[in-house]
Amino acid sequence: MPAETNTSAALRIVDVPSVVSLKDFAEILQVPAADIQRKLMSLGVLASLNQKLSPEVVTKLAKGFGCQVKITANVAAPVVAAPVPVVKPTVTHKTRVKGAGGPLGRPPVVTILGHVDHGKTTLLDAIRHAKVVDSEFGGITQHIGAYQVDVADPDHPGQKRKITFLDTPGHEAFTAMRARGAQVTDIAVVVVAADDGIMPQTVEAINHAHNAGVPIVVALNKMDTEGANPDRVLVQLTEHDVMPEKYGGNVQTVEISALKKQGLDELLATILLVSDLEVEPKADPEAPAQGVVVEAKIDRGRGVVATVLIEQGTLRAGDAIVAGTAYGRVRAMLNDRGQKVERATPATPVEILGLNSPPAAGDRLEVAKNEKEARQRAEAVFSEMRETRLGASQRETLDDLYKTLREGEVKQLNVILKTDVQGSAEAIRESLTKIDHPEVKVNFIDVGVGPIGDSDITRAAATDALVVGFNVKADSATQKLAETEHVTIRDYKIIYDLIDDVKLAMAELLDPIFAESELGHVEVRMTFKLPGARGIVAGSYVTDGKVVRGSSIRAKRGGKLVFEGKIETLRRIKDDAREVAAGYECGIVVPGYTPEVGDILDVYEIVRTVRTI
Ligand code: GDP
Repeated sequence: MPAETNTSAALRIVDVPSVVSLKDFAEILQVPAADIQRKLMSLGVLASLNQKLSPEVVTKLAKGFGCQVKITANVAAPVVAAPVPVVKPTVTHKTRVKGAGGPLGRPPVVTILGHVDHGKTTLLDAIRHAKVVDSEFGGITQHIGAYQVDVADPDHPGQKRKITFLDTPGHEAFTAMRARGAQVTDIAVVVVAADDGIMPQTVEAINHAHNAGVPIVVALNKMDTEGANPDRVLVQLTEHDVMPEKYGGNVQTVEISALKKQGLDELLATILLVSDLEVEPKADPEAPAQGVVVEAKIDRGRGVVATVLIEQGTLRAGDAIVAGTAYGRVRAMLNDRGQKVERATPATPVEILGLNSPPAAGDRLEVAKNEKEARQRAEAVFSEMRETRLGASQRETLDDLYKTLREGEVKQLNVILKTDVQGSAEAIRESLTKIDHPEVKVNFIDVGVGPIGDSDITRAAATDALVVGFNVKADSATQKLAETEHVTIRDYKIIYDLIDDVKLAMAELLDPIFAESELGHVEVRMTFKLPGARGIVAGSYVTDGKVVRGSSIRAKRGGKLVFEGKIETLRRIKDDAREVAAGYECGIVVPGYTPEVGDILDVYEIVRTVRTI
């Protein structure tokens, strides 16, 4: 629930969701909704209580009420630990204070972040192999986007505890989920190669964790290498607001070699320690089941397969479910070992079969009473997305009013992107988002996995979007619908082609540049009337260049401009001519222009320069 966070500054800081209705916004500001409506009315906008307001409008309006807005994600984030820089007393395993645990404790969810080549993938594989393959289940492990390991419980010898790892290394998954308001990570393991030290993406990783309020465990990797210098890394960490225990801070660091599988047990024990001390992850297994989609795809044999991390409650086979705009029934559930399971408890990753379309990573999965209710809720989400879009077009009107306040108008190319797998969806989204132009940018209406379907077309029609497919196509019925709805579908097999074409489409939105291009000069030598011609004919001689029908002229008399217009009639002897070259005589009629002998006409055309990006 949005809440006031700070009243000490001159402007009161308030948290506002990225999509908020006028009524809710008034509540957050603690002002009567009518005051906000009046304010908007003074700007010429009639807004209902349910009118959705965009972040930009909200930000500007808030100032008028003495508030400064902090935009938050729309879905309430799960409880997270205090930000890392809070220094806590040093604790060792022996003095460990046990977290809440008990029936409400749940395994912590860990994401591995760090600079490229510092060993994230190797570490994820090492942990998985050490702890999964050798386990009682043995055999094959599946990549489903997340996995769980059993770790010896340091407090209860002989007993095991679980840790859940998101196994999509790299920062995109982390940020993509946060961007959708989902935060599943409890602890970030930042991998730093001890022979390389802190690099740009290490800093980025630290910032991601800090911004998300997630505690960090530093894995000093590649300790087997000759150049490993962990002390140097510790010093570097202090320069980035990460205070290792060794220096009196509260950040745990563990020396490991992912390649040689050394130090893994200590790393896992440390994760449990930090989890108990700083996170105390809890969930109610009896609550209505709720989860977050980690990844989703369409599998040839199995249909839509979504990996979901359960956050609350227990999901059971047969449950009616809704995730974003997708809905269905849990037809089957598989764990990270590819085994069929009947139920999934908090922090457990499971593959779910039975949704009607692939949801997006970060979408929240919830249970519904029955499939009918699930469908209705999915449809409601869809219409809300649509309304948000409509809110956005309203925003454009509002923004017009604020135009004077803005430096420049940024145009948006609305895009619905569909791909065969989630990985390419994220990669393409990132590449297109990165196209940096001051006047135009790509605005994603939807990014999803699966073939281009009718709902994509309807959505594209409602939002005037371009539908772009990568390794997916639309069937002929959908193509027909696109034709009737005047929606453009383009499909690609090569990412670069896709990006180039989107750039072209963006360039088309740019205001064209018009420039004058000089064609030539003529001298008026006689004037006469011609039956049928609308005006006096300037009998002229082309002194240089050429004259083209339809081109523009500037008539000068004694060096002074006397008329500007367009050539309507151009004749060579008695015939109409399209153009007449230098050294020839011609008859020119420019409506409204009364030529005089001796006038000089500058002939030019306006050329429209197509801009590129
Ligand atoms: P990522 O880009 O962070 O996922 O890094 P990778 O896991 O792909 O590792 C990059 C390279 O470092 C690979 O060649 C790994 O074999 C190597 N590597 C990873 N961990 C270690 C380690 O502990 N010791 C050594 N010597 N090499 C490692």
